[in-house]
Amino acid sequence: EKEGEKTLRSPICCIMGHVDSGKTKLLDCIRSTTVQEGEAGGITQQISASYIPVEHIRERTKELKADAKLNVPGLLVIDTPGHEAFNNLRSRGSGLCDIAILVVDIMHGLKPQTIESINLLRMRKTEFIVALNKVDRLYGWKTCRNAPIGKAMKQQSKDVQHEFDHRVTQIITQFKEQGLNTELYNKNKERGETYSIVPTSAISGEGIPELLLLLIQWAQKTMVKKLTYNSEVQCTVLEVKVIQGCGTTIDVVLVNGVLHEGDEIVGPIHTTIRSLTPHLMKELGGGAYKEIKAAQVIKITAQNLEHAVAGTALYVVKPDDDVEEIKELVMDDMRNVMSRIDKSGEGVYAHASTLGSLEALLKLLKTPPVSIPVCGIGIGPVHKKDVMKASVMREKKKEFATILAFDVKVAPEAQEFADNLGVKIFIADTIYHFLDQFKAYVDNLKE
Ligand code: GDP
Ligand code: MG
Repeated sequence: EKEGEKTLRSPICCIMGHVDSGKTKLLDCIRSTTVQEGEAGGITQQISASYIPVEHIRERTKELKADAKLNVPGLLVIDTPGHEAFNNLRSRGSGLCDIAILVVDIMHGLKPQTIESINLLRMRKTEFIVALNKVDRLYGWKTCRNAPIGKAMKQQSKDVQHEFDHRVTQIITQFKEQGLNTELYNKNKERGETYSIVPTSAISGEGIPELLLLLIQWAQKTMVKKLTYNSEVQCTVLEVKVIQGCGTTIDVVLVNGVLHEGDEIVGPIHTTIRSLTPHLMKELGGGAYKEIKAAQVIKITAQNLEHAVAGTALYVVKPDDDVEEIKELVMDDMRNVMSRIDKSGEGVYAHASTLGSLEALLKLLKTPPVSIPVCGIGIGPVHKKDVMKASVMREKKKEFATILAFDVKVAPEAQEFADNLGVKIFIADTIYHFLDQFKAYVDNLKE
């Protein structure tokens, strides 16, 4: 125990950015697997996370001869599905991720979800490194598989280097328009004020060595306090999933502490852990464990997990703990989000996939120039009962008889019901789509 207190835990790194920029592929490349190809339509369907042991990172970065002391046991990388950029960032009010990779497609530059990601990272004060991905798509690129980008650039023709410089300059300007200073990692003298850009290819692996080394070095240098292992359990539910044969399971991020088989856990749920499985690199194998130490992404099976809420904290009951007190803590989390609802009782309904994404959605809807009042909320799919609630608004203000369904499904019978009742349901993957759609709808009603 005493010894454990001084060691560092693995930094938690999430991968964010616009859809198709290569987030999943990048995670594949880092851990040397091919998840992306196995995905339905290549779209990330579930949270994919990997624990990358430090030995693997040492191996991948050996050409850099950085000879850096890597003091962390590894890196925990979480791929956030493009349309779920909000999911994984919350943990008891502070950022769940210690550091992030913001992926930008060098051929396309900054896109709406890139900007949304930037705003979230800013809101959470999360440090990030830009992976300027798909450099292999520069016309005439010579592949240098898994090479450091510094070395790979030297192999390229003048034309390729010229196009590269041109695109980098453009993208730095786009970042500046968002109020961010960025610079190529090897020219960046003011890390901290200026964000580093590492050119990468998730297909052929150029630049991955620099990306990994920079992530670890930056985390070790600036986050020692945050990364110092703490034995008190800090755990957040990432996803609630039904798995055939296992019933409802939850995927959690264990940021600190140890979880054991048989632990009594409290979230909006109250149950006992039946089994624990870490999300590891494939080579390390899966299988159940008796106990797992942070930081790790873990699948938990237990009874009564149906009512777990993604984005909420999970508490472990210790012998002297008062379960009712812990349940009260859980409710505080929920209430915090509820407090953003308009007391006037007039406003739209907002639905999101997790408590965290709902919180972010409510916050952004409140930020001028938007200011769309919200009078009701929901987590998960939109059902008939939600439509019923929203329909009450018809008599007060017709434009508010609206449900903003952010990254959640709408049950077919709910849609039919809404059509009959005159409730409008907007479905969107990004907040910006809502704003445009909602504004157009209100303008239309006024005419
Ligand atoms: P995500 O939506 O951000 O997770 O993007 P994916 O990882 O699913 O990648 C989207 C598409 O871009 C897939 O067809 C990938 O194979 C491709 N892709 C991703 N990274 C690269 C890269 O570095 N180079 C090239 N040429 N294609 C890439
Ligand atoms: Mg993906």
